[in-house]
Amino acid sequence: MLPMIQPPITAAERAVRHGHIGLIVWFTGLSGAGKTTLSAAMERKLFESGKLVYLLDGDILRTGLCRDLGFSAADRHENIRRAGEVARVLADAGFIVLAAFISPFRKERDDIRAALPPGKFVEVFVNAPLAICELRDVKGLYKKARANQIQEFTGISSPYEAPLKPELDLHTDRDSIAACLQKICVAVETHLKM
Ligand code: ADP
Repeated sequence: MLPMIQPPITAAERAVRHGHIGLIVWFTGLSGAGKTTLSAAMERKLFESGKLVYLLDGDILRTGLCRDLGFSAADRHENIRRAGEVARVLADAGFIVLAAFISPFRKERDDIRAALPPGKFVEVFVNAPLAICELRDVKGLYKKARANQIQEFTGISSPYEAPLKPELDLHTDRDSIAACLQKICVAVETHLKM
């Protein structure tokens, strides 16, 4: 007799096992706005509170899965499409996925949202004016972009399309890191209950 094929494990079963549902918290914003700082601190907070959490970082993905891609508009789209797919698979597996990508184009963020059940995509606009990001110049990239050593740099020579209706709009030039983290915690808790 052939063995019975088991039914697939459901999202509800995984949620019982992990103590929470899976979802994507998508951080978008200019370079230097605060995506890495906030998402890394959130990963630590959620991990320490026993959650199944994973930080998907743009820079890391670019050295592996997306290493064949550059920074043209087409390659940026493909980079985010792949990032969205990875995030979706991880969220499906039950993880709270923190995705930190400049992700400058509204449509590609909206496409990822559209591929998920309602309430499972929490868009966090890490919102700081270009002038502040440039002043911070965490990685020295703005200086290079102004000197034309980097082409198609978001905010300088390539557009950034701000979210129209993000779940959270964080003004990292005005609010402290701690205040921003508190707002993200509330948003995550709210969506975990939905
Ligand atoms: P990104 O990942 O968006 O390129 P980073 O997190 O690498 O940005 O850099 C943001 C910089 O801004 C860090 O030096 C951080 O300490 C500083 N910063 C100041 N206030 C905030 C805030 N409220 N939230 C996040 N970062 C902040």
